[in-house]
Amino acid sequence: MNEHTVRRIIQVLFILIFITVTFVFAYPYLFGEHWIHSSKVFKFKDVSGPDTVAVIKSPAKANWRDYESGDSNRLVIFLTDPDSSWLGLVHGLKTIGVPFRITNDIDNALQHKVMLVYPGISGKLLTQRQLKKLADYAQQGGNIIAVNVLGGGLASIFGFKSVKSSVDNNRVELQPVHAITKDLMDVGFRSIKLSTKNKGQLSFGTHVYQAPKHKPIAVYNDDSAAIVYNKYNKSETYAIGFDIGFYLLKAYNRRLGSVAKTYANGFESSVDNLLRLIKAIYLRHEPAAVTLGTVPDGKNLSVILTHDIDYNKSLENALVYARHESDENVSATHFIQTKYIRDWNDKIFFDNKNIDNLKKLKALNVEVGSHSVSHSQSFQIFKPGSGDEKYPDYVPYVQDENETYNGTVLGELRVSKFLLDYFLPDNNVISFRPGHLSNPLSLPESLEATGYRYSSSVTANVSMTHLPFQLNYNRDNYSETSIFEFPITIEDELPPKMGDRLEPAVELAHKISRYGGLYVVLIHPNILGHKLDFQKGLVTAIKPFSWFGKISEFGDWWSARNKVTLDVSSVGKKHHLRLNAPTSINGLVLNIPESWKLLKIKNTKQLVSKKRKRLILNEVKGKVDLYFRQ
Ligand SMILES: [Zn+2]
Repeated sequence: MNEHTVRRIIQVLFILIFITVTFVFAYPYLFGEHWIHSSKVFKFKDVSGPDTVAVIKSPAKANWRDYESGDSNRLVIFLTDPDSSWLGLVHGLKTIGVPFRITNDIDNALQHKVMLVYPGISGKLLTQRQLKKLADYAQQGGNIIAVNVLGGGLASIFGFKSVKSSVDNNRVELQPVHAITKDLMDVGFRSIKLSTKNKGQLSFGTHVYQAPKHKPIAVYNDDSAAIVYNKYNKSETYAIGFDIGFYLLKAYNRRLGSVAKTYANGFESSVDNLLRLIKAIYLRHEPAAVTLGTVPDGKNLSVILTHDIDYNKSLENALVYARHESDENVSATHFIQTKYIRDWNDKIFFDNKNIDNLKKLKALNVEVGSHSVSHSQSFQIFKPGSGDEKYPDYVPYVQDENETYNGTVLGELRVSKFLLDYFLPDNNVISFRPGHLSNPLSLPESLEATGYRYSSSVTANVSMTHLPFQLNYNRDNYSETSIFEFPITIEDELPPKMGDRLEPAVELAHKISRYGGLYVVLIHPNILGHKLDFQKGLVTAIKPFSWFGKISEFGDWWSARNKVTLDVSSVGKKHHLRLNAPTSINGLVLNIPESWKLLKIKNTKQLVSKKRKRLILNEVKGKVDLYFRQ
């Protein structure tokens, strides 16, 4: 071998090494994947899957005609523009339990005693004939809640002189000037926070009613009139100056920004205050108003204890929490991270040793939910994914708090569910919570595509509600998914330490229980000590007035309740309530008028309790007839 040949070989070797090194470093950028050494991945012997492919359905625009039917006892929404945020109203009214129907036919709407005109009244949206009928209806015994009364010559009907638009109003305060606001007046129960205070950052415009005839029911932050009313012989009208459907959707879609004073652990009930106001007006003017209770079995508060297992010592500790829950007969949901990859976050803890702990946990009657594979802080910017991600080839790698390689939304959901279902065949994972509540826009439809039903992925304070709600496609306005959200009330990471905040937490539970709200508690079992003491103290303090259950239990109850319809036909003092529950439900609560007495029930014998104003029914399935007299 001469010198020239040797030099040539060295040159070629250098070029080969250069190409290899360049390729290894450029690979993730070229192919969007990061090569992870196999020593960082735990592989269960002979386990791979899922074999099915997840497909995200195309969004189907919600159709208001799906809500067209129903009897005259219902609140009627007279829809003056179908291209509006009416879906927010639908989800809100279902949550608060007010029966409603939607129509665009004024003659049809006039058959009801309470009408909600949405999204507005103007000469552009309504014909002269329709405007005249509305005015006659109000003066002859019909009650109207109207949103954005901007024209059409009905100002005097609603009790104001003129209207002007404003982009400076960020808050609405209910006023103690009317019977309907009486129950809503306590501290914290009267504000509807619309947007952040910063001018120029207001998320939507409002309307001010000028020179109101009566003192306004609600005013904006500058004391101008937000909600006004007018009285007639037998009826009342109410005019609201902001788009309530749009507001509800902003809250439910987690698009209100940082309007709330607190991120968690506080009382932020703006959405609930608004829904309770609408409900109060409906109850005042509809003598045959029957509404659905919000808590199973007629208790005052729905409580869900949850634990996020995202640290290598947590699963063992979770057993201690679960034993306490089992002893107290209050089963909880434990969200497990299927951590089979060693990365910046932590070492592997979803392995053979912990599968035994997982089985022990399940044996304590907990619900096991998914807490993702990677627990990445950048989950919210993950790509949707292909839907064929599989264990063990799916290897999302958390580099640091900002960077995660190879992760997809569908991969996180389907691979974690596959593994948990594989090792716990009796469980069937249907509930999900992301790490750090990092929440991609595509989460609702991705959950639907991967077999989940329930999400607990936001805080109640950020959503401005202490009640569950249905999620929309892409967290947008026009298309719904079948997924329900159960927002977190209490968490364990904000200061002061959890053990020092039992008293305010119990106080908060009492506050939310006043209108049958939801109270979801998140405790990371990374330690026992003061956190376990908090759980023990809390359960003891709120058990007497609370219903306790897992997310899956409450979710099944809530989604069955969501389909229940209530129609009443009345002849004189006799009332026939036709209830329809397409999905079987226990502990269904009906709030009935105070003067009604139950005569008989057909098609279910399971009347659990009959208190004044409240019936609790078990084994409700299909059509049930209830007969009352006054
Ligand atoms: Zn976590």
